[in-house]
Amino acid sequence: MGLKHTPVKLAIVGGGAAGMFAAAVAAQRKIPAVLIERKARLGSKVLMTANGRCNFAKDISPEDFLKDVECPVGTPQGRSAAKFLQSALRSCPPRKIISFFRSLNVPVRRMADARMFPADGKATTIVHAFGDLLRNSETPVVTNCPVTGIQPQKNGFIVATKNFTLWAENVLLATGGVSYPKLGSVGDGQNFARALGHKIVPYRPGLIGLETADAEITRRAGRRYEDARAKVLSGDGKVLYDYRGEVDCESFGLSGAAVYNSQRFIEHAKLKDYTIEVWLDKQRLQFRNLKPRPVKEAIVTIGGISTDEINPDTMESRLVPGLYFAGEVMDIDGPTGGYNLTMAFATAAKAVASLNS
Ligand SMILES: Cc1cc2nc3c(=O)[nH]c(=O)nc-3n(C[C@H](O)[C@H](O)[C@H](O)COP(=O)(O)OP(=O)(O)OC[C@H]3O[C@@H](n4cnc5c(N)ncnc54)[C@H](O)[C@@H]3O)c2cc1C
Repeated sequence: MGLKHTPVKLAIVGGGAAGMFAAAVAAQRKIPAVLIERKARLGSKVLMTANGRCNFAKDISPEDFLKDVECPVGTPQGRSAAKFLQSALRSCPPRKIISFFRSLNVPVRRMADARMFPADGKATTIVHAFGDLLRNSETPVVTNCPVTGIQPQKNGFIVATKNFTLWAENVLLATGGVSYPKLGSVGDGQNFARALGHKIVPYRPGLIGLETADAEITRRAGRRYEDARAKVLSGDGKVLYDYRGEVDCESFGLSGAAVYNSQRFIEHAKLKDYTIEVWLDKQRLQFRNLKPRPVKEAIVTIGGISTDEINPDTMESRLVPGLYFAGEVMDIDGPTGGYNLTMAFATAAKAVASLNS
């Protein structure tokens, strides 16, 4: 019997949130796909989410989701980021993601503020559910295998690794941002895209703590204030952003959801002179121009492959036909509360749905 050399329909590079979801959707749609992951196991970062509990979605409408992602609200920049995600979120809204996990027999729990978790509070349950689906569908998964290059050909792509090359009709880059590099996301996808002519928006930390040596904070290091508040004020004292939520005191300064979301606002608004005001047990504290912790410690990366050159209805490159993107490798980011995983899942679903089986 003569062997015929044929390409795989889809090579998914990166087995994190977006890559696992893409492989799952491909399996359900009977699209032949192979998933390639640099680390020894899939979903290393997903396992870390929400302190190992995995806040995988927020149970709100796509419209509310997109409003929350818009940052700063009402600016052309905020609106264009939300607009880019509109098509993906409409096709794969949080409700669909929640049903997806239920269909994999993952009991889920909805918190009062609509954040969704696996009911047992274990991120491993989510990663195992993906693993089971991929095993049952006999999806080829290659772990411990960094992809080293992507080369467009006349009829598809050559996907290079240290040990083998793979011929794929289409490639989905789902290699994540550049935060927590030990978990595998080191910027490879952005480098591949750059080599193919894509613009990369400079990396900045998103959802990260702010540094202060102020004794009011350092003497409280280790204390969490769940019912707290953070505000961002302009140099002349105008309130620009206001968020009620957790504020934590650390040895380096401030963290917690209210601080993370404020830091995201400061970064997107490109504020140079601002005051951050936190309320801890009715005590008001103000700080000027605090430095964020480094991007490698951030929950998300702001920046990445520019969405200007990506078709939002397909997640396909406008420059290289057959090249797709999903998740944090792109210049997309959301606030805390399940938004970032949802964006990874929804963009992955969008990319795979635009391929014909
Ligand atoms: C501490 C922490 C807590 C978080 N908590 C939450 C939360 O509760 N809810 C939420 O919504 N978001 C949370 N996030 C953010 C969320 O985890 C990310 O936004 C999300 O994982 C992005 O998915 P992704 O698939 O794009 O990237 P990743 O999940 O980072 O996956 C990228 C994958 O690609 C692989 N890879 C990279 N380069 C290569 C290569 N060359 N070849 C092969 N594979 C490669 C990596 O090893 C990695 O597995 C948290 C993040 C952190 C760091």
